[in-house]
Amino acid sequence: MVKAVVGANWGDEGKGKIVDMLGEKADIIVRFQGGSNAGHTIKNSYGKFALHILPSGVFYDHTTSIIGNGVALNIPDLIKEINDIVSKGVPMPKILVSDRAQIVMPYHQLFDACEEERLGGKAFGSTKSGIAPFYSDKYSKIGFQVSELFDEEVLVEKVERVCELKNILLQHLYHKAPIDKNELLETLHNYRDMIAPYVADTAVIIREALEADKTVLLEGQLGTLKDTDFGIYPMVTSSSTLAGYGAVGAGIPPYEIKDIIAVCKAYSSAVGAGAFVSEIFGEEADELRKRGGDGGEFGATTGRPRRMGWFDCVASRYGVKMQGATEVALTVIDVLGYLDELPVCVGYEIDGVVTKEFPNTTKLAKAKPVYEVLPGWKEDVSEIREYDKLPENCRKYIEFIEKEIGVKITMVSNGPRREDIIYR
Ligand code: GDP
Repeated sequence: MVKAVVGANWGDEGKGKIVDMLGEKADIIVRFQGGSNAGHTIKNSYGKFALHILPSGVFYDHTTSIIGNGVALNIPDLIKEINDIVSKGVPMPKILVSDRAQIVMPYHQLFDACEEERLGGKAFGSTKSGIAPFYSDKYSKIGFQVSELFDEEVLVEKVERVCELKNILLQHLYHKAPIDKNELLETLHNYRDMIAPYVADTAVIIREALEADKTVLLEGQLGTLKDTDFGIYPMVTSSSTLAGYGAVGAGIPPYEIKDIIAVCKAYSSAVGAGAFVSEIFGEEADELRKRGGDGGEFGATTGRPRRMGWFDCVASRYGVKMQGATEVALTVIDVLGYLDELPVCVGYEIDGVVTKEFPNTTKLAKAKPVYEVLPGWKEDVSEIREYDKLPENCRKYIEFIEKEIGVKITMVSNGPRREDIIYR
């Protein structure tokens, strides 16, 4: 059976931790979209790790980690990450990379940076990992599939063709030096040698695993509100962050995805530009940012301070519903124990009308938060392991959220470690 662990919000919900936890009972863990532009932070017996491209199952020796065809594969990043974890004492994980995955090219990062520079104040706040140029090229059919690295004739011809096009843009739009064809070809030869030990027809491997009744976990990157279609376009990522895309990005039949765990944060945080209705500022935000996550709310890949906000029921309900969540894991509840009261956004006021439906980007720009204020619990709950032992106001907060989002909260995460979890 296939389980998906996906984000209900803007990303950084703590999916990595949930995957790491569920990985104990999984045979295969698959990344199906995105690239090394975001990251999961995981804390376990080996130490603390920031994974950007590797699936969060790499710490178990019984699981196979797969980079699916839907991923933006940055080969040097992948190899570096493998070397990093192995050098810290993690046994060499079993990693397979889809032969249909496409490769993030050095010029994708260059184009990403050039475009952000050109846009100036109107920039998207890209991490400049080349993800948008990568997916543009993939769908323009000028991307490089892993399989193509192993066909020299195809490779040479494609490098020639792609350089012709890219160099016009580089020289005349961005006023940068052109790409050297021979250098690029050499880079690709290096990429081929680096990736060769991992390449496989992963869709077949997953299919055979499912036929043998194995458990497959799909690990999403970012969250619903960064989905290209259903997120806050254009301030979104360039791949679908939805569980539904897991079928495509991993190469499995959609009906195999039986369980969809949407990971939802007990407060809000976001990176990059775009409307963020329940955003808070100043000292209030600084305090939450400082206490948030594990050691503060700063990007795992970029170190950028995250934007902070109160829990947003409108965005989160939409977030879990668009994922098709069958259950919700509510994370970082432990962070909120310092507050006297907790404002929760229960509606958006748009042109004088209050709605609970998350609107399109045009309307979203006009939305103002409608808050309800719940009492705090003023207690450290991080050592509690049973739901009934949580302070009453904490349970009320969780149950309020559950009612608003309309999907059962089956797990409450109250700390960064694997064991910091309360099952309901
Ligand atoms: P992901 O991309 O969704 O996996 O999220 P990140 O890894 O970027 O952010 C989650 C951060 O919160 C990491 O630093 C985790 O170690 C941490 N974390 C996850 N769950 C909890 C939790 O329940 N409580 C606390 N305090 N930190 C958590």
